Formats: sequence, C-alpha cells, structure tokens
Amino acid sequence: MHAFTFHNPTTLHFGQNQLQKLSVEVPKYGKHVLLVYGGGSIKANGLYTQVTELLKGLGATITELAGVEPNPRLTTVHRGVELCRSNSIDLILAVGGGSVIDCAKAIAVGAKYDGDFWDIVRRKAVATDALPLGTVLTIAATGSEMNSGSVITNWETKEKLGWGSPHAFPKFSILDPAFTVSLPANQTVYGIVDIMSHVFEQYFHHDASSPVQDGFCETILRTVIDTAPHLLEDLTNLEHRGTILYCGTMALNGVLSMGVRGDWATHNLEHAVSAVHDIPHGGGLAILFPNWMTHNLDANVARFKQFAQRVFDIDAAGKTDKQVAEEGIAALRAFFTRIGAPARLADYDIDNTTFESMADKAMIYGDFGNFRKLTRDDVLKIYEMSL
Ligand code: NAP
Ligand code: FE
Repeated sequence: MHAFTFHNPTTLHFGQNQLQKLSVEVPKYGKHVLLVYGGGSIKANGLYTQVTELLKGLGATITELAGVEPNPRLTTVHRGVELCRSNSIDLILAVGGGSVIDCAKAIAVGAKYDGDFWDIVRRKAVATDALPLGTVLTIAATGSEMNSGSVITNWETKEKLGWGSPHAFPKFSILDPAFTVSLPANQTVYGIVDIMSHVFEQYFHHDASSPVQDGFCETILRTVIDTAPHLLEDLTNLEHRGTILYCGTMALNGVLSMGVRGDWATHNLEHAVSAVHDIPHGGGLAILFPNWMTHNLDANVARFKQFAQRVFDIDAAGKTDKQVAEEGIAALRAFFTRIGAPARLADYDIDNTTFESMADKAMIYGDFGNFRKLTRDDVLKIYEMSL
C-alpha cells in the first residue's frame, strides 16, 4: 500500500426526503443561484418544480442554464460562465446526472478563471478557485456528485477530456433514490456499467497488500451484480435504486483508491470513442472493458483469477490460473449481455474507419494506463477486438 492523503469535503445527504436539506445548505452561500440542468427529464418527473419552489421559499433568485447535453460541451460551459458573471451568482446548483454535474463543475471553476476554461482542461492553466457548487443527483453512475473530476467535450476539436481540481468538489450533494426512478432501462444499464468500470479502474493494479481495498471493490461489484437484474425487472423499486445509488457514489469518491494506484486506461479509450461518435459513456465502457481485460490478462493473471473467484464465484478446481481468469472475463461479458448492455462497436454503427482518429485522441498525452502502459498499437488492437 502506498502512502496517501484522503480528503473529501462533500457533504452527502442520502435518502428519501433529503431535498429539504436545500434549506440548510443554500443560505450558507447566498441568494443568487444558477440552476443547471439537462434536456428536460427533471421537468418531466416533477423535480424541477420541487427544487424551484424550495429555492423561492428561501428567497433565492434563480438564473437557469437548461439543456446541458449528455457528454457536456465546452460551448455550454462558456454560456454558464457568462451567466455567472452577468448575474453575480453565489451558488451553482446542478440538478441532473453526471453530465449536468460535470458541466456545473467546469462553470464553477471557469467563472473564477480569467482565460478560456479549456486551458484548464488542456493542463495549460491550473484552477485556483471556484464558485460553490451543490448537486441534486438523478442518475446512479459517475460518482461526480462526490468527487473532484469532470469530463468536458470540445465538439469543435472533437476532444473529450477529463480534468480535475480540489476546487471542483461539490460543497453538498443530495441523493434521493426516488429521483432516479424515472430513469429508463437503457440509461439505468449505462449507469450500472459505469459504476462497475470505476471499480475495475481501481481494482486492477499490482499491489498485493491491499486486502481491505480489494474487499471494498469486490463487495461493490457483487452487490451491483446481485441487484441489477432485480432493479431491471422493476425500475420503480426504491430499495434497489438506493443500493445502486450508494454503490455509484462509493465507487468513485476516492475511498477505493486509498493507497493504490488505479489504471484508468479504459476510461481514456472510451472518451476517445465518445469524442468522435458521441455515444453514451456506459455503453462504450461495456464494449471496451472486457477487451481491455483480455488484452492485459497476462500482465497479472493472479489478479484476474482473484476477480473471477471472488466476484463471479468461478470454480478453480482442475483449471489453470489463466483458465479461471478467462472464465471471469467471460462471466463479465455474459453479465453485461444479460442486463442489455452493448457488446460491440458495431452496435453503435462504428467500424474501423475512425480507429486512427480515435487512437489520436486516446494518445493525446502519450502512452497511458498504470496496470499496463498502452501504446498506440495496444489501443488499435483493443478497438479492433471491440469491433
Ligand atoms: P448523463 O449524461 O448525465 O445523463 C444521461 C441521460 O439520462 C440524459 O439524457 C438525461 O436526460 C437522462 N436522465 C438523467 N436522470 C434522469 C432521470 N432521473 N429520469 C429520466 N432521465 C434521466 O449520464 P451520466 O452517466 O450520469 O453522465 C455521463 C457523463 O459523465 C459522461 O460525459 C461521462 O464521460 C462523464 N463521467 C464523469 C465522471 C466523473 O467522475 N466526473 C466519471 C465517469 C463519467 P436530461 O438531460 O433530460 O436530464
Ligand atoms: Fe465513468
């Protein structure tokens, strides 16, 4: 286990009726609120009305930034920054999924930065301050509600890049499973795949002295695998919604990576696909992750064997370590198929004609991944395996 410092300043309000906590949180920051939301799901499910009535009851003035895209765009960040400046915004309130929250993080940091926010994404400048940000989460997926990361797409240059800053942690996040009930089956599945992928990114490392971290990861994976089929049979089941919601936050709030060095290559591979084809993040991950695993199996067969045995209960009797490991990866593929996740790039009509440009995006900072460094050849191989 490596030395580490853990600090997570986000206050989490989890469970039913927690929206009322807005009346405790909002007055801490001021009266002028920028309400950031997506394409309309919060209007359809009534959450918009609940939030705005609560805010009005607190005497807040509300400026709105509506229409944040899935895979949020730099142009929308710029619009939000302008709104913050022209309306003397005190607090940004993001109501939606990871895309809305990631966009709101960028706005919060961009509003306190004199240059173009893209400088911060491209590592040409470092964020030094941010407006306060609160979130009301409507989809279990990214963990953005309790971490300092964000992913923004520059559609002009076709780049989708992650960035992060300690200033980007939300001050508070409100998670009520009831707000996720309206999420359709496909988006629920994408979220589930993203949650599992975040665990994989932190589980596949070479440090053998991390039994507690391993246990956290394996428990989240087993819980998601057990719960997902029941949830997909009844999308309105609040208990299952709550379990998945909690798994999503715990999967990427920093707890799983204490003392270990995560890989994150597959997220990079996926962002390159989304940058060119604008596909759902979880859909891309479902296609790529089993192939990343197969491609890198030999880098640490023991790690994949442990995964197979502890997460999918693969029986090792009479088999080589590699056979057990391969059965674990096959079980993951079968699970993704069972819950209706895509398995091939062809499912999104992607063929090999864009592989070179996707590889260019993936290689923007050179070879990547901590479990095994991926070269351009590796990247192309994994895309080919994913056809
Ligand atoms: P999302 O892109 O925020 O939302 C996906 C879709 O679900 C949207 O069309 C949205 O509609 C809809 N939706 C959300 N909540 C709903 C609800 N309760 N009922 C009905 N529809 C609902 O999905 P996401 O997976 O949370 O975020 C994906 C983005 O996050 C990607 O850009 C990904 O790269 C990034 N990401 C970030 C992190 C991080 O740590 N920051 C980690 C992994 C991935 P509306 O627009 O109408 O609301
Ligand atoms: Fe993700």
